[in-house]
Amino acid sequence: MGLMDGKKGFIFGVANDHSLAWHIAEQLHKHGAQLAFNHLPNPKMERRVRQLAEPIGAKVIAPCDVSNDEQIRACFHQAAETLGPLDFVVHSVAYANREALYNPFYKTSRADFLQAMDISAYSLITICNQGLPFLNSGASVLALSYFGSVKVIPSYNVMGVCKAALESSVRYLAAELGREKQIRVNALSAGPCRTLSAAGIDGFDKMLAHYPTKAPLARNIESDEVGKSGLYLLSELASGVTGEIHYVDAGYNVIGW
Ligand code: NAD
Repeated sequence: MGLMDGKKGFIFGVANDHSLAWHIAEQLHKHGAQLAFNHLPNPKMERRVRQLAEPIGAKVIAPCDVSNDEQIRACFHQAAETLGPLDFVVHSVAYANREALYNPFYKTSRADFLQAMDISAYSLITICNQGLPFLNSGASVLALSYFGSVKVIPSYNVMGVCKAALESSVRYLAAELGREKQIRVNALSAGPCRTLSAAGIDGFDKMLAHYPTKAPLARNIESDEVGKSGLYLLSELASGVTGEIHYVDAGYNVIGW
């Protein structure tokens, strides 16, 4: 018996095989879950996601820009029609205009701020709202965050503010959806991992070099460690856990000097 046998869920945020969402998906698949995926609505991204998702038997691979509520609703509709009611949702999506990450934070434009917030934080709220009718009682929702939400990390800028909003949203959503439908909502706060999004952060290599000098485990994390912790939070093993920001960062966040 796999830990996720009979469980079905939607994964938002696979871009390629380095994506943290893909590492979570691999673990879920390995443990018996059936998965549905979104891709950004363009042929290149569709091809990339299909290349990964079809070999693991995904029957739903739907276009969705998370700034579009209609597209989010269509994803859940299609998944529920094909798979039935869902047991989990992964939100592994973030975006900020390059300028907002390269310029000083105080120069963040209103347009860049609102776009980053919309795609990286508000999308979790609307995904929960649009997804609620299609989720089983006891379902689990997981978002991906980073330590820049609570501490200043060079060049993380507006994304740090987005992650603060995302983490706060996790707590509010957990409080409401737990009472409404026994739905759990948590976030993983991952240490730095080489992905497409990480490549957009100035000084990311410095971050990777710095973590082992401070982290209790004296190393960086592997992306599959995010996958394994994701599996835990989405499975029955974490049935009593909600509203949590769970660090997967080799312990970096506990060090104060
Ligand atoms: P990634 O680039 O593989 O994933 C980001 C995803 O967001 C991509 O699939 C991209 O298509 C999607 N996306 C961007 N704008 C979108 C939109 N408008 N609509 C729909 N999808 C959109 O990079 P990743 O590092 O795997 O990022 C996944 C999550 O993990 C993000 O929330 C990121 O902030 C978080 N995170 C990453 C790290 C890291 O070091 N890589 C650390 C902590 C947290």
